Amino acid sequence: AADRQLVRIVIVGHVDHGKSTLIGRLLHETGGITSQKLEQLKEISARRGMPFEWSFLLDSLQAERDQGITIDTSQIRFQTPSRDIILIDAPGHAEFLRNMITGAAQADAAFLLIDAAEGVRDQTRRHGYLLHLLGVKQVAVVVNKMDRVGFEEATFRAIETEISAYLAGLGVRASAVIPISAREGDGVSAHGTRTPWYDGPTVLEALDRFEPARAAGDLALRMPVQAVYKFDDRRIVAGRIETGSLKVGDEVVFQPSGKSAVVKTIESWPVPPAGQELTALDAGAAAGLTLDREIFVERGEILSTPAARPHATRRLRVRLFWLAEEALEVGTSLIVRLATSESRATVAVVHEVVDPGHLSTFESRRIGRNQVGEVELLLSRPIAADPHGLNPRTGRVALELGGRIAGGGLVISVLDAEAVPA
Ligand code: GDP
Repeated sequence: AADRQLVRIVIVGHVDHGKSTLIGRLLHETGGITSQKLEQLKEISARRGMPFEWSFLLDSLQAERDQGITIDTSQIRFQTPSRDIILIDAPGHAEFLRNMITGAAQADAAFLLIDAAEGVRDQTRRHGYLLHLLGVKQVAVVVNKMDRVGFEEATFRAIETEISAYLAGLGVRASAVIPISAREGDGVSAHGTRTPWYDGPTVLEALDRFEPARAAGDLALRMPVQAVYKFDDRRIVAGRIETGSLKVGDEVVFQPSGKSAVVKTIESWPVPPAGQELTALDAGAAAGLTLDREIFVERGEILSTPAARPHATRRLRVRLFWLAEEALEVGTSLIVRLATSESRATVAVVHEVVDPGHLSTFESRRIGRNQVGEVELLLSRPIAADPHGLNPRTGRVALELGGRIAGGGLVISVLDAEAVPA
């Protein structure tokens, strides 16, 4: 039906707690995988004298994808009764974190997975923290491998209490805490007969209750400029409308340059049928614009309306998650990416450091690997930015050190916002 809603989710948790197994099981039980395929994989396992693993399903899907067709190997689709689900996945743990930070994996909701026999681990807490830091507000907890603890209620309740308290400390309320056995199938699409003491939702029901992201169209117009092309005599400004909407005749301004113009035509992809001209675009659309006058704007600038423009600044206060071996400290030199902009920056101040394992804040001048901290960044040139609370798309940064993503986070505030050039 046309009113099916799309929800992008991630499943995070300590390595080996059963993420792949849960995904394989979900795909199978929602019809994403045929029984034929499943039989085939079971046969292969039997022939090799190995027990069947649900995670083989993922490996075989990956292998099929590697042979071509789609370039996006990190997205898996399936359906629940009322939702279309895109599950964002990435092969390695580090790569996954990097995808989350760069926004390659913008999730509306998440499952945090915990092995019932292992309990809440440091990595579990870090993942919880990262979800919070990246603004994923809908989180359901899955306590997996209940078979390993004899489906015992007391073990489940202890984990439920511990993780709920941790998340509450972050201001996140778990929408459900669900006991399951991904391998044996309890609690995934059907209520487990071995957990009669549990009356909450199954994994599938929890999925079905996640809300799609707030329509990005409600927010102020933001189109980061990806490129400027010259065609014949025309100059086309290309980018993706991250939030808001745009129509022919609108006056727009580019930040940080402060240059303004009126939108003359909108070119979009796919090309509209002959004879039909495109006159308006909504959030999510890739656009090419021509303007009523020749102005020089560059990749990295952000287009907005004159009345609600992002700030142009060289100083940002950022709350970040740090992944690199080398600690981040005052004077560390980085590349900051915000939307399509890229600029050099140095750390001017380290305000505070948080250990996500224990949510303790302490005074320190260095942010170590896997720690969270608040810093002030001084950029080598002005960029356009929004506080994350105003616009999640243009209020997040990725940080690069030595050519690699080394951290990322949210713009807490835009300091010294520069006066807009007339
Ligand atoms: P991942 O690293 O989080 O993706 O974990 P996997 O899905 O690869 O699972 C790790 C191991 O745990 C595998 O040997 C699985 O068979 C096993 N496993 C996964 N789910 C369950 C479960 O519900 N019960 C038990 N006993 N083992 C499980």
